[in-house]
Parts: sequence; structure tokens; C-alpha cells
Amino acid sequence: MHELWQSVLNEIETTISHAAFTTWFKDTELVANDNGKITIAVANIFAQRQFQTKFDSQIRQILINNNIDVISIDYIVKTTNKQKTINREVTTDNPTPIQPTVTNTPKLANGGLNSRYTFANFIVGGSNDLAYTACQAVVNHPGTKYNPLFLYGGVGLGKTHLAQAVGNEIIKLNPKTKVHYTTSEAFYSDFVNAMKHKLSGFADKYRKADVLIVDDMQFIAGKEKSQDEFFHTINKLHQQNKQIIITSDRPPKEIPTLTDRLRSRFEWGMAIDIQMPDFETRCAILQAKSESSGVTLNQETIEFLANNIKTNIRELEGVLNQLMAYSEMRGIEPDLATAEGLLAGATHSPTHHITAKQIINKTANYFQLAPADIMSSDRSKHIVTPRQIAMYLLRSETRMSFPNIAHELGRKDHTTAMHSVDKIEKAIKLDYLIREQVAEIRDKLYA
Ligand code: ADP
Ligand code: MG
Repeated sequence: MHELWQSVLNEIETTISHAAFTTWFKDTELVANDNGKITIAVANIFAQRQFQTKFDSQIRQILINNNIDVISIDYIVKTTNKQKTINREVTTDNPTPIQPTVTNTPKLANGGLNSRYTFANFIVGGSNDLAYTACQAVVNHPGTKYNPLFLYGGVGLGKTHLAQAVGNEIIKLNPKTKVHYTTSEAFYSDFVNAMKHKLSGFADKYRKADVLIVDDMQFIAGKEKSQDEFFHTINKLHQQNKQIIITSDRPPKEIPTLTDRLRSRFEWGMAIDIQMPDFETRCAILQAKSESSGVTLNQETIEFLANNIKTNIRELEGVLNQLMAYSEMRGIEPDLATAEGLLAGATHSPTHHITAKQIINKTANYFQLAPADIMSSDRSKHIVTPRQIAMYLLRSETRMSFPNIAHELGRKDHTTAMHSVDKIEKAIKLDYLIREQVAEIRDKLYA
């Protein structure tokens, strides 16, 4: 059995990066083969999930190639693995092992606010300082300074955090203030429910707030009746100098189904874009978040993560939590090699193989062009951007080299590919439309 597993390992070792192999396969063992019912022991629950989703088909195939009639494979977590917990706040009085910091149980404070969202733990950089400053101004002059305050930007960039920080801070300064936080979805279902059951008091609930925060506004757009109700609510509050804060994934003028009068109400106030933080800010966020969990990360690990996660802060946090939990369970310091292993496992997934042809076709299709247009040397604007997006996706989804990207598009010079990828990378941060187009094409690729 040991030899069998060893030969599986030898084969897998040639197909994934060294770091990934060490991270996931080092302490594994084939513990049983009961007439094709295979049991494999892995180091911990992270590894277990990784095996079930990422390595299962590969392992199965190799076992079959070794003449095993595989019926099922069970991945179990090794119990004998000695787990040294990193010494944080464990004292002799409190010997319970620390749970991994994966989840943050929301502590709901007043008005549906989560008390973990504060200004103090919000890191400010060039991408969000305008939004941060406006939010502070709202705290100091609620209802008068920027009203409504409209924050927009991509997923996971801190809109909810900032909007709720305003609410939390206002309550801290003046505990009697009625802050009401809601998502537009909750507002909508509340409204529908009130209509259906002819409930009274719906309007009051929102119209009596001193500060009304409506998160993810885009979900209400297009739902006409609740937009009407929302419009009246905003009007009423605005007349009384009550503060309104709205977040959305895009600016008001780009929400096609938003009624004109609602759009014009938003124009009374201030609309501010939040973008993806630059490299230094990402490093600062990682530093602050690891410190607040009592973990020290060295500079190279932080830089590695900041360099490799460029989409949003939620993802940055997710990977950091994974790294800390993983290290803690193994009793090791979270370091560069572990971080590399984690990301290697996450990004080089063998289950989804996207080809260059698929990328070119889907991109062309999305922009209602022919693939030949994308491959052509036509410099018309309506073709140039799609072409650049195709190059960007070739890079981000297949990790293809620049010369190969150029080659796929029938070009000789790879510097154009480099510039195009760079240009779209920047545009994604600045231009929500490009961001959305890229996200939609990516969705179609993996659909
Ligand atoms: P959005 O509402 O824009 O989708 P969130 O406000 O939920 O994003 O932010 C996602 C996660 O990232 C949250 O856990 C939030 O605390 C964190 N976060 C976002 N921006 C920052 C920042 N500048 N500093 C610290 N944490 C941040
Ligand atoms: Mg949000």
C-alpha cells in the first residue's frame, strides 16, 4: 500500500509546483484499500477540501492506471498529527484551543450595524481616501454636508465597511441617534411583505431614522414600486436634514433601470468611487489584519500576497485567514513558502481548463464581433478594447507568456501584449464598465 501511494505521489509531484506539493501531499498516506474503497489520510480540513475538489480526479486516474479498481475515495483527516497551536492569548486559565480565524461572527450593534466596521480599522490609501474623508465629514455634519452620500465601486472594496463605520461612529458620539442600516434587498422584501399583508408601519420604520444606510442599491433598481417607496423615503428624510448613505456597485447614472427622479435625488449629494487599493495599501491592510489577529507576517510574505491578489480586499482577507488557520493547525509560522503553496493550490486548478480559443471566441462574442476581428490588425476603437481584454484574459486565466499571447492573436511583437494586459489591469481599477465587462466574460468562460 505504501509503495502504491508512493508511486501516486511521484506522479503528482511532476504535475504541480514544488511548494504546492509540499503543502498538500507531505503528510498524506493511503490508509486503506477495501476492494476499491480507498481511504486516504490528509493533514487537516483545508487539505481535505483541497483533495476533494482539486486533486480527486487526478488521484483517481493514477490509481486506475496502477490497476486499482477504484470504487470510492474517502479523504480523512489524520488524528495523530500533533498540533502545536501558535501561542496567542492562550493562558493557563483559558486552555481552550484557539479556533482558526476564518469567520468573524457579526456582533450586531444598533440599527443592524456590525460593530467590527470602524474607521480605526479601515486602512486609507489613494484608492479610498476621498470616500474616507467624505464619510468622516458626514460623521461631523450629519444630514448637511454630503446628503445623500453615494459610495460606489466593485465587490469587496470596503463600501459596506465605510458606510457602517459612519453609523457606528455617529452612535458612539451620540447614542440617541437612530441609525438604520438595511440592504436594498431587505428594503425590497420588507416592502413587498408590507404590501401583501397590508401592514402599516413600513414607511415609519425607515422614515423615522436619523441616519438611513441602504447598502447595494443596485438590487432595487428596476423594481418600480419599491423604487417609488424608496424615493418618497429619501425625499422625506432629506427634507428633515436626515442623513442618507447609499452604496452601489456603479454610479447612479450607470444604473439603467433607476428612475430619473431617484437619479436626480442622488445628484443632490455626492457620489464617490472606491477603487482597488494599490500595492502599498494592500500591504498595509495585510499587516494590520494579521497584527490584529496576533500573528506576525514577515515582509516577503505580505508582499507576495499583496502582489498576487489584486481583485478585492475580501479576497485578500480570505487568503490571509486561510494562511493563518493553515499555519496554526500545522504548528508552523505562516511564511512565504506556505503562502505560495496555498495560492498555487488555489490558482493552478487542473479541473478547469480554459483554452486560448475559448477566450478569444467568448470575448469576440460578448462584444458582438467575429473572432477574426480580434485577430485582425484593425485599429478601430470598438475592436481595440475587446482585443486588449482578450489579451488580459489570456494572461489572467491561462498564465500564458506574453510571446504566446501575441502568437495566439497572430502577432509577432509581444510588447503589445504586455501593454494591453497592463492597460486593462489599470482600467479595471479605474473604470467600472471595463471591470464589469471583464467579469461578465469571465463568468461566461466558466459557466
Ligand atoms: P463591499 O461592501 O465594497 O463589497 P466590504 O466593505 O464588505 O466591501 O469589504 C470587504 C472586506 O474587506 C471587509 O471585511 C472589510 O472590513 C475589508 N476592507 C475593505 N476595505 C478595507 C480597508 N481599506 N481597510 C481594512 N479593511 C478593509
Ligand atoms: Mg457590501
